[in-house]
Amino acid sequence: MRKMILALVAVAVASAPLSPRAAAPIRVMLLDGANNHDWKSTSPVIGKILDEAAIFNTTTVTVENADLNAFKPDWSRYDVVVLNYNTGIGADAPEWLPETKRSFERYVSSGGGLVSVHAADNGFAKWPEFNEMIAVGGWGNRDERSGPLWYFKNNTLVKDESPGRAGTHGARLPFQVAVRNGSHPIISGLPPMWMHHNDELYATLRGPGKNMTILATAYSDQTARDEPILIAVTYGKGRIFHTAEGHDVAAMSSIDFVTTLQRGTEWAATGHVTQKIPAAFPMHRDAVVYRADLLRMDPNLARR
Ligand code: ZN
Repeated sequence: MRKMILALVAVAVASAPLSPRAAAPIRVMLLDGANNHDWKSTSPVIGKILDEAAIFNTTTVTVENADLNAFKPDWSRYDVVVLNYNTGIGADAPEWLPETKRSFERYVSSGGGLVSVHAADNGFAKWPEFNEMIAVGGWGNRDERSGPLWYFKNNTLVKDESPGRAGTHGARLPFQVAVRNGSHPIISGLPPMWMHHNDELYATLRGPGKNMTILATAYSDQTARDEPILIAVTYGKGRIFHTAEGHDVAAMSSIDFVTTLQRGTEWAATGHVTQKIPAAFPMHRDAVVYRADLLRMDPNLARR
């Protein structure tokens, strides 16, 4: 009987939210409401992933392009802003108010955190400070004026000034992700290579690449280069985690997206990572591990 009670307690503790921080939760703004991707289906997944970490208090802020003239958030209410967001990729994509841009620049440069998820790096091609924050981006009429191409070739980081458009990807497939800077807190402890579930592999990204640490790359058949996939950036006192992963719910169900989003958001907010690597993380480079419960959150699943 005594043994049975102990076992039940252990299960209850294991399933309760962990509280690794005694301090107040990390305040997250999850920004959506416009994107050249299906933000309505992916934002709930991002919200669930952040909630599971049990160290974040996430507020979703939804702003449609028609309402940008009233978008003047008090960034100081948040420790980190997660962008599942862009205002569009056409030449006519709307811009934030100048005062909103300036306040955001001040927020990040004074230590605010930023996370750029997948197509967030398609946005704001004409805003130089934003491009310094994300280091590289694609689409949005980016070309050599946006900065050089950045990639790895023969295990060396290449800054390629050759002209051309920015942003491409092949068909959605699983692909291997290779660690380039394993000492960084976001990916410290992860295996040197793992398989990412069904996603677009972004390639030919361009940008200023200032204060950028490429954490992980993936080999693109399209470019025959190792393309940056996970990036850490600093902008003044601010920290930015840029993940090129996460095209849709299926891509976000990959356990590496879950793990690196949780850890990257914590690092952007605090400079530290306290979260453990999940036991299910694939330690074999050919094993695809995804979260079926997250995949089932895809409202489009039945129509595929
Ligand atoms: Zn995409």
